[in-house]
Amino acid sequence: MSSVCHQCFGQGKTITDPCKTCHGEGRVKKKQTIPIKIPAGVDTGMRLRMSGYGDVGERGGAAGDLYIFITVKPHDVFQRDGDNVIIEFPVSFVEASLGCKKEIPTPTGENARISIPDGTQSGKILRVKGGGFPNVRGKSQGDLLVKLLIETPIRLTSDQKDLLKKFQELETERNNPLQGNFSEKVKVFFSE
Ligand SMILES: [Zn+2]
Repeated sequence: MSSVCHQCFGQGKTITDPCKTCHGEGRVKKKQTIPIKIPAGVDTGMRLRMSGYGDVGERGGAAGDLYIFITVKPHDVFQRDGDNVIIEFPVSFVEASLGCKKEIPTPTGENARISIPDGTQSGKILRVKGGGFPNVRGKSQGDLLVKLLIETPIRLTSDQKDLLKKFQELETERNNPLQGNFSEKVKVFFSE
């Protein structure tokens, strides 16, 4: 940014002897590092204004403002949606079937405890109130949205396979609500 030329404005307020660096413009280009305070809750596209940190005017004119445009770096685990934060959280099919309690990481580094009810379907979103970002205008606090991904087990041992086969024998349509709905929809489609 441009700063006041101290060669020209060494003593008085007028330039009587223009220096060779600024040719009498009264300002010179200068690299400057300034500390800035980023308010909690800023998001991509927001703009901070640093009053008086812009270019100075010609021949001793007042300095303008410095605008800082915010870009929030994406995170591997946490996704931003306004003040809310979304996290995808894997749960085993047994835990989802029987219900369980889980510790969920939050952006602050503290864990939040959530209850996953029995019979939870994949894609279900549980809300941790206040677990998101503070609103940048200080009015509210976002939530943490936990999107549950129910995992299909892999690399089953023969004992595990036997148990699942036994379960399959006892399984009814009532155990699989989506399948029930799906065959109903197909029936309705073909009878119309
Ligand atoms: Zn000068």
